[in-house]
Amino acid sequence: MSKTTVLVVEDEPSFVEALTVGLGREGFEVVVATDGVEALEKFDEVGPDIVLLDVMLPKLSGIDVCRLLRQKSRTPIIMLTAKSAEIDTVVGLEVGADDYVTKPYRVRELVARMRAVLRRAESNEPLDVAASGIIEVGSVRIDPDAHLALVDGQEVTMALKEFELLHLLLANAGRVLPRDTLIQRVWGHDYVGDTKTLDVHIKRLRSKVEVDSAAPTRIVTIRGLGYKYERG
Ligand code: CA
Repeated sequence: MSKTTVLVVEDEPSFVEALTVGLGREGFEVVVATDGVEALEKFDEVGPDIVLLDVMLPKLSGIDVCRLLRQKSRTPIIMLTAKSAEIDTVVGLEVGADDYVTKPYRVRELVARMRAVLRRAESNEPLDVAASGIIEVGSVRIDPDAHLALVDGQEVTMALKEFELLHLLLANAGRVLPRDTLIQRVWGHDYVGDTKTLDVHIKRLRSKVEVDSAAPTRIVTIRGLGYKYERG
């Protein structure tokens, strides 16, 4: 798996150093910009997964940088503010940041906020569903054009909704798919039926793709969220 790249925009050398060391230790790839103009340049250059953005910056303020980034990107942004009064200003201005952290912060707390924002961004991303093309994850393979599903090389018959659900799960293997998303994508936006329908279909799918459907290792339940197909 590739590292998560974080763009740290901060002009205070001591903060830059602490973040570079602390975030590096947490497994992040750290890219630093020390003023607002450099922040925009580095953003275009590296395409970070998340941005930590100080409010008070030389050349261009963090607020302006945030606004400019939001015009072209939905990349998560966490604002770093010197005092809580600044947070109120930033929130009031609705610059489009995803979260706010007041200095001084603990790196551990900051990382927890970063991971939460990244998780949220991931579940809002458009889902991958190729209209056609064979998808294979581990020993499960589907051919959407032929409506064909193979498990360990053996053809498995499934109802249309089961097949669509498996297609969505496989196409997004490794990602948690929230229950609502699965219901909307498979049954449509106007679905008003029992939400148990999803669980019933998952159960049927498991009986077809799992080695032991009582102890699923492929289609796993993420409690309180939804389901994930393990990348195998
Ligand atoms: Ca500053």
